[in-house]
Amino acid sequence: MAARRPALDEATLIGRYFARPLPARRGVILGIGDDAAVTRLPAGHDLVTATDAIFAGVHYPRGTPPRAIGHRCLAVNLSDLAAMGATPLWASLALSLPRARAAWLREFAAGFFALARAAGIVLIGGDTVRGPEGATVTVQGRLRRGTAITRSGARPGDGIWVTGHPGDAVAGRLLLARRGGSRALRQRFLYPQPRLREGAALAGVASAMMDISDGLHADLGKLMCASACGADFDADRLPLSRQLLAAVGIEAAREMALSGGDDYELLFTVPAGREAQLARLTRRWALPVTRIGTVRRRAGLRWRLDGAAFRFRDRTFRHF
Ligand code: ADP
Ligand code: MG
Repeated sequence: MAARRPALDEATLIGRYFARPLPARRGVILGIGDDAAVTRLPAGHDLVTATDAIFAGVHYPRGTPPRAIGHRCLAVNLSDLAAMGATPLWASLALSLPRARAAWLREFAAGFFALARAAGIVLIGGDTVRGPEGATVTVQGRLRRGTAITRSGARPGDGIWVTGHPGDAVAGRLLLARRGGSRALRQRFLYPQPRLREGAALAGVASAMMDISDGLHADLGKLMCASACGADFDADRLPLSRQLLAAVGIEAAREMALSGGDDYELLFTVPAGREAQLARLTRRWALPVTRIGTVRRRAGLRWRLDGAAFRFRDRTFRHF
C-alpha cells in the first residue's frame, strides 16, 4: 500500500525541486525518474556508504531555517565520508514533511544543492512522504581499493589530532535559542562544513579517523575503544576559538569543546614517524589542525590541565 502523500503531488514536487540535470562523468547511468538509480564505480575502487537521519526537535531545533536543514542533512553525511577518507559520488534523499510548502521546499533545495555542488556529489534518487519534519540521506563515495581510514588503527604512541574549533557549534546552538550572540558561532551550528578535502588527504598519513558528531570526549572514547587503546590529553591544547572564548569564557569553552557535539570536525591519529608528512600536508590548509593528546596502551581517557587531573561535566548528547 502506498504511503499518504503531501498535498503538492509527488511527481510535481520532485520535478520542481529535486530533479536536476546530471553533470557528466559521475558514473550515473540512470538518475531520478525510474524505479531505481544505476551507477558505475570506477575500476580499482571500493564503494563507501553512509546514512544519517535528522529530525526537527531531535537533531535540530524546530524553526531552523529550511536552507540550513537542506545543508545539514547532506553535511552530516558528507562528514562521514570525509572521516573514511572517501571522495563523494552519489546521494539519495528521503524527505518527510507534515505538508508540502513551496517556500520551504525551495529554501531546503537551495541549501542542499549548494553544498552538493561544492562537494561534487550528485542526487540520484530518494523518496517523499508525509510525516514528521525530517530528512534521511544516504551518501556513497569511492576510495582507492583498500585505503579506507577506519577507527581501529590507532596504536600506542600515536599523536591525537583534531581539525577546526570544537565547541563552536554547541555555543551557536545555544545562542540561536536565545536569538542573539556571535553570528560566526550561530553559522557554525547552522552550516557545518564537512572536511572532505582534508579527510581524503589524510589517507596514508592517519592511522585511525572519525568525525566528531556527539562531542569530542565521547567520540574520542569510541575511537580509543575501537583501537583497543586509551589516551592522555592536555586540556590546555584544546583549540578554542576566539569567538567561543569571548562568548562564554575559558571554563565553559573547555566544557563545550569536550562535550558539546555537532562539530563535524575530524579526529585522527598519526604515528610519530609520519608527523613530518602531516606537517607538509597541513601547511597548505586554511583549517587549523591541533595535537591534543597521545595514544597509550592502558584503556580510558585521561585529561590533564596544568599538570593536574582535569575534571569537567560531560553533557554529551544522548540519542535515547
Ligand atoms: P516509487 O514509487 O517507484 O518509489 P517515487 O514516485 O517514490 O517512485 O519516486 C520517483 C522517482 O523520484 C524515483 O527515481 C525516486 O528515486 C525519485 N525521488 C523521490 N523522492 C525524491 C526526493 N525527495 N529527492 C530526490 N529524488 C526523489
Ligand atoms: Mg518512492
